Amino acid sequence: MIPARRKHRVRPLSEGRHPEPGYWNAAVPSICVVPLQQHHGSRVHPVVAVGDTVREGTVIGTGTGRFSSLVHAPIPGKVLQIGEIPMPDERSSVAVSIELAGEFDCLGKVPAAHPWNELEQEEILRLIEEGGVVATGRGLLPLHTLLRRRHRENRARIVLDVAQSEPYVHSELEAAIASPHKTVEAIEILRVALGAERAVIAVNSARRRRTRQLRREAAARGIATVRVAPAYPADLDYQLANAAFGERLPARSLAIDRGIHIINATTAIAVHDAVVFRTPQIDRVVTVAGDAVVRPATVKARVGTSVGDLIDECGGLSSRPARIVMGGSLTGREVTNINAPITKGTASILALSDSEIHRAPALPCVGCGACLRSCPVSLDPVFLVRLIQAGAAGQAVRAGIDSCVECGLCSHVCPSRVPLTEAIRAARAERNRSAS
Ligand code: SF4
Ligand code: SF4
Repeated sequence: MIPARRKHRVRPLSEGRHPEPGYWNAAVPSICVVPLQQHHGSRVHPVVAVGDTVREGTVIGTGTGRFSSLVHAPIPGKVLQIGEIPMPDERSSVAVSIELAGEFDCLGKVPAAHPWNELEQEEILRLIEEGGVVATGRGLLPLHTLLRRRHRENRARIVLDVAQSEPYVHSELEAAIASPHKTVEAIEILRVALGAERAVIAVNSARRRRTRQLRREAAARGIATVRVAPAYPADLDYQLANAAFGERLPARSLAIDRGIHIINATTAIAVHDAVVFRTPQIDRVVTVAGDAVVRPATVKARVGTSVGDLIDECGGLSSRPARIVMGGSLTGREVTNINAPITKGTASILALSDSEIHRAPALPCVGCGACLRSCPVSLDPVFLVRLIQAGAAGQAVRAGIDSCVECGLCSHVCPSRVPLTEAIRAARAERNRSAS
């Protein structure tokens, strides 16, 4: 049984050097390596063969079943290779390598806008499915699957999450600020798709000045904005459900279980483009930061661009990084291959220096309780890890291991550098592997 949630407040973590405001379009790579497994769900199979010519936006991968999502060619060209590659989250995926050739159909052109106001709910959902839109913030599941989930008791509600409390990572904020009109129109499209009665935008209170235009556009369409604290984490399901609708989620339940759909700005913009422009999700706004990067910044890049190309786009490395991670500084997965491609779910690439990570051997636990006090979902991380080490998987489940949101705070605050989050994540991954 999980104890009642304690009131906690975690001060903002160090952010190193801030990425500069705004984003620019990264150079299109000469070869894109496009993983087909960019979401959790059904296996995606290639529908192209080596030697095929593809256009920008051609479907190159498809799956079957409710949890499948289409994958599209991010660049025009020729299929060079199809093969299995390792992914940073320890899974592997079939990837299609495309060598750039021919003309772009979308890049550099103003796409024709299709009126969507007359579309039925199911037509909008079909366009989102055809656009291969993945819910990038929560669970990396195909968005059309999540939107089709109906709740028996609660009418659907929407929270557009621009709060993004992860230190260093500004990709959602920059995407929303750069396209306030699209972002707000996307909320309206999603309202129709869900039959949602209310929609709210959640912004970090420290970013009020930068989100002014977004908030104005939203207010003009009757969409309210709520502020969340500039702390980490500040945009967990229970925090946003409470901030947006004053709703208290029971322990271990997700917002979607109560009909609350939390959608990231990049996902919303992909919805807009799929419905209004009929263009698929083939690019991603990514923050490239960390002390080892010459010019920390946010860029918009084609899916399948390599980590190395994006670091070069931001001036390269100023020093040898202690670690390169994909994702947040506390939650990201280590990238061991600089040629690893970005996917629809890559929010950031961080090249962290020695001073930014706890690079020293773990010491024995001193029982200080800092991990317990820091946990935003009221778990006892060191107790969970002891259960894992003792092989008591059932007790770990009863102690709430499935409520862990892998925020990384317990490891971050531990004076003995006990890798608590890593142990919890590994135990859950192992259990999922054995179950599948
Ligand atoms: S990683 Fe899990 S156990 Fe650790 S603080 Fe975050 S939610 Fe709690
Ligand atoms: S923070 Fe580290 S040292 Fe303190 S109780 Fe937790 S595991 Fe032990």
